[in-house]
Amino acid sequence: MKAIVVMSAVTSFLIRSGDWSYDNLDEWPETCLNGTTQSPINLEKASATRRNFSEIVFNNFYNVNVTLQNTGHTVQVTISEDDQNTLSPNITGGVFGTNYYFLDNLHFHWNSEHTIDGYRYPLEGHFLLYNHSYGNITNALNYIHGFAVISVMYEIEDSCTYNSFEDITETIDDISKNVSVSVRLRNKISIHSLLPTTTNKVFVYNGSLTTPDCNEGALWVVLEEPSCIKQSQYEKLSGIYSDRDALVEQNTRPLQDLYGREILYSGTAAMKKKFVRL
Ligand SMILES: [Zn+2]
Repeated sequence: MKAIVVMSAVTSFLIRSGDWSYDNLDEWPETCLNGTTQSPINLEKASATRRNFSEIVFNNFYNVNVTLQNTGHTVQVTISEDDQNTLSPNITGGVFGTNYYFLDNLHFHWNSEHTIDGYRYPLEGHFLLYNHSYGNITNALNYIHGFAVISVMYEIEDSCTYNSFEDITETIDDISKNVSVSVRLRNKISIHSLLPTTTNKVFVYNGSLTTPDCNEGALWVVLEEPSCIKQSQYEKLSGIYSDRDALVEQNTRPLQDLYGREILYSGTAAMKKKFVRL
């Protein structure tokens, strides 16, 4: 797919967050160091509170105009500004109830930041959403549950059927060594194709952004069922360079302390092993 390369000041909280790296975690802002509802965390089924949620409803996730950007820390897929209207991708239902949360961007972490019962996936996608009543992500970051993140895990599988990683990675060469250059994809993509089949088995908890400024108040919804990416696509996605001309080998924040937070879980709890006498 051909793409249009444009230099632009993309409004993104990731860009404005400035000069930080995974090599100097102890120099991250105050909230990152002293917050008590930080992300990511290990999600443990056995100790989670069972709760049933209705299905999340994904609206307008099929034909979406997007731009692609190397932020220096990740590959970010941002909803194009001309799509930021009522036809923009948004969600409702599930733990979100009757509230509408609009998609600001999605981006990726390799390896995964959350772990599920201690298991770390090779890739995690973060779908960053803001409550529509706050207007935009910048404003929404100031409010508890003003913003939310839906998290999707990915396994590397060469039998993975077509999804939009194809469109994204086809264009990635244009940005892999160019930090802050935005590339608008010529064709619309299906963001829905990056989701797993089952979206009602979820972990829900109160957390934060996993990058500076680590804003707290995020409603996290981590889908239990993974989706997939092909090996060649994974290599392209994780092959970007930072503004220091270094390969972004990993962009995974370490696990944070739970500090007694409750984790809600709507899937099937792991069966406790029974001691069987033969
Ligand atoms: Zn993220």
